[in-house]
Amino acid sequence: MKLLMAANWKMHKTRAEAVVFMRELAGRLSDLPEDREVAVFAPFTALGACSDALEKGARVRLGGQDCWAAEQGAFTGEISPDMLRDCGCSLVLTGHSERRAILGESNALVGEKTAFALASGLDVILCVGETLEQRELGALEAVLARQLEEGLAGVPADVVPERLSVAYEPVWAIGTGRTAGPEEVLGAHALVRQCLRRRFGDKAAEMRVLYGGSVKPENAAQIISLDNVDGLLIGGASLQVESFARIVTA
Ligand code: PEP
Repeated sequence: MKLLMAANWKMHKTRAEAVVFMRELAGRLSDLPEDREVAVFAPFTALGACSDALEKGARVRLGGQDCWAAEQGAFTGEISPDMLRDCGCSLVLTGHSERRAILGESNALVGEKTAFALASGLDVILCVGETLEQRELGALEAVLARQLEEGLAGVPADVVPERLSVAYEPVWAIGTGRTAGPEEVLGAHALVRQCLRRRFGDKAAEMRVLYGGSVKPENAAQIISLDNVDGLLIGGASLQVESFARIVTA
């Protein structure tokens, strides 16, 4: 299984800034080891420009940070999986904690988006993770189980396992500078794998489970060396090409 190293730019970068980044990144990744895959989740407005900036054969995949669960229609402000594919995307994030917390996305809606995006041909990274309050109340296992059960409810059992990944992102570690420690990462990733196994059987072993939450060049190598960690989702430290490239090759 290839490690997936993914940048989530959130609401950052104009088209011009994104193009400079993509060109520089592609140049730095010319000798990327074969066992690594790189993805950039850019804002919708920069996706077309990013795609144009990548030369054929560049080893960087493009993704949308969200999508709607319909092909087209009266959904003002939303973007369909087909529109993302039209901009050069092969991936999409669903259920990022900022969308859950700020925009009120429910597990059910995240599940609809996940199933629809996969059926539309996009690979999906479903984001899950607990708040500090939930962890302190001892609810980690129940929260992850619920997010995964509902988030994956519409995914067919015969899904190609490489097309579906889960990002474990403890909410208390996102953008806070506080990274989960090895024990916390190991424990949560084992729970995610268990849920995937309950849902998909042996195929679960071929699904990637990424860690996200204040990953930096200094801690990336240690985190990816842990059991059940098959990649990283990086927010703040992915905005500079220098730090993202160091993480990708950590
Ligand atoms: C994220 O938003 O997915 C994330 C992991 O952010 P950060 O790396 O900034 O904590």
